[in-house]
Formats: sequence, structure tokens, C-alpha cells
Amino acid sequence: MKRPDPFVTRSPYEEIRIARRIRLVIGVCNISMLIVIPIAIAAGFILLPLKTAYSLLAFCLCFGIAPIGFLAKKIAQRGHPDPASYIFIIYLLIILGVNTLLLSGLMRILAPMFILLIVITGLMMKPNRNYLIAILATVIYIGIRILTTGGYEFPIELPSASMDAFVIFLEVMALAFVAFINVLSIRDLERALEDATYEQVQLNRALQQASDRKSQFTARTSHELRTPLSAILAFSDLALRGTYGPLNEKLQNAMQHVVNSARHLNNVINDLLDLSKIEAGLLEIVDEPYELAEVVKTVKSSFLPMAEMKDLPCEVWVSPEMPAWLKGDSERVTQVIVNLAGNAVKFTEQGRVEIRIEPMGRSKWLIRVRDTGIGIPEDQFKDIFEAYRQLGKSRSDSIAQGTGLGLAITRNLVQLMGGEIDLESELGVGTTFEVTLPLRAAKPVENKVEDRLEPAT
Ligand code: ADP
Repeated sequence: MKRPDPFVTRSPYEEIRIARRIRLVIGVCNISMLIVIPIAIAAGFILLPLKTAYSLLAFCLCFGIAPIGFLAKKIAQRGHPDPASYIFIIYLLIILGVNTLLLSGLMRILAPMFILLIVITGLMMKPNRNYLIAILATVIYIGIRILTTGGYEFPIELPSASMDAFVIFLEVMALAFVAFINVLSIRDLERALEDATYEQVQLNRALQQASDRKSQFTARTSHELRTPLSAILAFSDLALRGTYGPLNEKLQNAMQHVVNSARHLNNVINDLLDLSKIEAGLLEIVDEPYELAEVVKTVKSSFLPMAEMKDLPCEVWVSPEMPAWLKGDSERVTQVIVNLAGNAVKFTEQGRVEIRIEPMGRSKWLIRVRDTGIGIPEDQFKDIFEAYRQLGKSRSDSIAQGTGLGLAITRNLVQLMGGEIDLESELGVGTTFEVTLPLRAAKPVENKVEDRLEPAT
């Protein structure tokens, strides 16, 4: 099964660029409207009583930024940042033009030049210096305002209608300029962010491809390894049972070593194969009726011999309230319990290991694996579920046996089966793992049981 590549359909760079431009235009429209509307209202109160046609026009134009900003914002929200910003900029230019026409004499030429000068300087300056230009513009604006109104105490009597329009004009232009400076700064930041994000996306893509290749490689190699290993296991097992003739004691010991090592290797390869399947999203969970007693039998046969070797008492208890037949993936349920029980035995030298299986309400069932072993430090509770993660070697000699994959696989399997895994532990006292799975009783199925519960090789 090939997973769709999310990067081939659309250029991520393009996607990010458009999304950021939309946000930018909307941001500028919002800022302008927020600043200009109150000023326009104030200007209206101050200037309208003068009843000059110029003031009225300037006021209307100034106020008009609200609907225009709103329109531009709507267009940007629909995914067209370019037309939206053109509308906004053209409107600002109209304000500039009309206000310029309202002026007379030298101011008519000086004012647009002054604005132009600031804009060009703004464009030439480095982005991080933009705030300097904003300060410069404000200083010049205040200077002109002092000259034209005769002081800070605005409103005072304005000398003439054209002067009053000029004040409005400067007001609007200063705001437009500040908005423009904002656009420049934000745009530079956005560009830097776009580049960084693009690089990040490329890197993620490369990493994803490398990870996929690794998973495929592991899955393939594991298959290649498993086939000869199965032969080694089968023939050495037959030899050990004396199928090819009686073995003397030395040979018997040697063959036992071969069988044990081959079994261990088989487990490691199975773990690697499972993990690569999980990582590649290829692990499938079957949903079939199975008999709980068969699962318990398999679990016992795989971990009790190890516990007996260590002289560790073990108990497996199944609540009589559990349904005899369940629906789900018996092989994976077995694997989860065997992993947890195997760890419990591995990390316990004294005391006991206990497995309890019982219903939890009507919709869940609980598998609790408790030991009285060395325990796990609380700050490691999360880490031990990560692949290849083992706790310090000094904790136990038996650690050399593990790969650090068991709990990572267990957690993934539990989640794939729709369940949860929890952990409680105290150093030197013991550890309890609790797995909850969805409870679905099934009708008994005859005959098929033997085939299904064949352990995986
Ligand atoms: P490993 O193959 O090393 O057992 P696991 O993923 O199964 O890998 O476990 C990761 C680590 O978690 C182990 O190395 C061990 O330190 C710790 N651990 C797991 N189960 C127990 C337990 N029952 N008691 C104490 N430590 C445990």
C-alpha cells in the first residue's frame, strides 16, 4: 500500500506564501481601520462646524477607509491578497491626490514631495531601521502641524479652509505612512519566516523519505533474516530432540545454546519488524472472535519457564465475569501481555509477579501486570515507552537481554487496538502496568481456533 505524498499535489512554498499574504493584508486593514476611524470621527467633530467644503471632503475620504478596508479584508479572506492590497493602496493614493488638490501655493508641491521622500527612504532603509523612519515622519509631521496650527493645542482656530484640509491631509498621510512602514516590517519578517518554513518543510520531507526508506529496509531485511533463522530453529530443535540420532552431553548442551540464541534472535527480529511496520503505518489489527483461555495458555507457556528458572512465583488470574470469547486481535493481545509479563519477570528478583484480567465496566476490560521488582523512576515513565529506550545498565544485568523496543511496540499495539496503557511504579517496591481495551464479547467459533492462535514466527 502506497501512502499519498502530501507534497506532490501543491507547492508548500506557494501555500505558505498565499496564507501569509492574506494574513498580512487583513492585518493592515484592521490596523488602519482601528486607527483611522476614531481619528476621522474626532476630525469630523472638530472640523465640520467650520462647514468648509474642503474639510467635509477630507473627512469623508478619511472615513471612507473603513468600508474600503472592510472590502479589502473580505477579498483577502477569500484567498485573493493581491487585488485586496491593490484596492487598499489605490484608495490611499486617491486620498493623497485629492488632498493635494485641496492645498494651495507652495504646500501643494511640498507636501506630496515630503510624503514621497519618506516613502522612498523607507524603501531604501533596512527593515530593522523602519522604526527610525516612523519616528522621523512623526517628528516632521508634528513640526509641520506646529507651523500650520500655531501650537499643540489642537483644535485651535484654523487659519484657513485650505490649511484645515492640509491638517487632515497630513493626518491621513501620517497614518498611511505608519501603516506602510508596518507593512514593510511585517513583510520582511514574513519573508524570513516563509524562507525558514520552506526550509523546514524541505527538511521534514527529506527526513520523512529517509525514515520511510529505513522502515522499508528494515521490513525487507527482517524477512530475509527470518527465513534462514526459522530453518536454524527447526533443525536444531529436531536435533535436540534426537531426531537425527542420540546426542552426547556436550552436543546436547551446545544444541541447547543454539536453540536459545536462535529463539532470542527471532524475538529481536520480530520486534524490529513490528516496529518498522508500525512506523510505516502498515501494521494491521485483525478483528476476529477468539477464546480468552487460549490467549492465557499461550501467555503462560511463554513467560512461566523464565519465571521458574528464577524461582519466582507467578499467578495469572482471570475474572469469572470475563466473557469466554472476545472479538479482536488475539495475537496482538497475547503479544502485549507477554511483553509486560516478560519485563515483570526480567526486572524482579524477589517477591512475585501477578497478572489479572477483569472487566472494567461494560465497555472495557483490564489487563493488570504487577511485579515486586526494581521499579522505574517517575521521571522515566514517559521515556520508557520510546523506541530503543532503556534505563541505566546498572539497574539490572538482565537489561543486556533487551532491545528497548518492547514497551514502544506494546504501547503502539494497545493504541491501535483502541486501548490505553498506564503505569505506576515505585523504586525498589515494584511496578504495575495497566492496559485497558475495548470489551466486545463474541459468539464461540469452533475449529478455527487452532489456526488462529499459532504463534507468529
Ligand atoms: P527492554 O527490551 O529493554 O525490556 P522495554 O521497552 O520492554 O525494553 O523496556 C524499556 C525499559 O523499561 C527497560 O529497559 C527497563 O529499564 C524498564 N522497564 C520495563 N518494564 C519494567 C518493569 N516491570 N520493572 C522495571 N523496569 C522496567
